[in-house]
Amino acid sequence: MSLLGWRQWAVDGQGQLRPAWTPWSPFPPGMLLWRADGITQARCLRTKRLDSTTASEPWPGHDRVPDEHRVPDEHCLCGLYAWRTPEILAAARRPRWTALPCVVGVVRLGGRIIIGERGYRAERGYPVAVLDRHGVVSTGYAIARYRTFSALVAEWAPSGPEATGIDRIAG
Ligand SMILES: [Zn+2]
Repeated sequence: MSLLGWRQWAVDGQGQLRPAWTPWSPFPPGMLLWRADGITQARCLRTKRLDSTTASEPWPGHDRVPDEHRVPDEHCLCGLYAWRTPEILAAARRPRWTALPCVVGVVRLGGRIIIGERGYRAERGYPVAVLDRHGVVSTGYAIARYRTFSALVAEWAPSGPEATGIDRIAG
């Protein structure tokens, strides 16, 4: 299975793509990196410590998740996240936890994919296109780069850029 999703990335000091919503500083540097040299594999960030603190467990149904499970698991929160359409991405909030630049773009998802109403959680991902107005994304990524959101959408959305005015995001 393979399909395209729409998402945000935070860009680190080396121009590498990292999660826009998961603060990645507590984790090993390479762990939450979107690789430039190949396919990114999702990992489950649940830990034994978290598993044992059931009283404060924020994830309903966690007890049904096997300790060792294939990522993503439908009862867990793991997986590489992306929204289904550029319209949903455009309506999404911008990350506030980081002062790093953030970019939006398109990712090709593969492996096991859990399909939600608004988005996907996938086992594997590979960034294919970004809106990179200021040239912050490393040239190490073999990725299509756009200066406007409408140009990105025109190229990658299946139905084309009918949503006019969509360029108001990501200013
Ligand atoms: Zn998991």
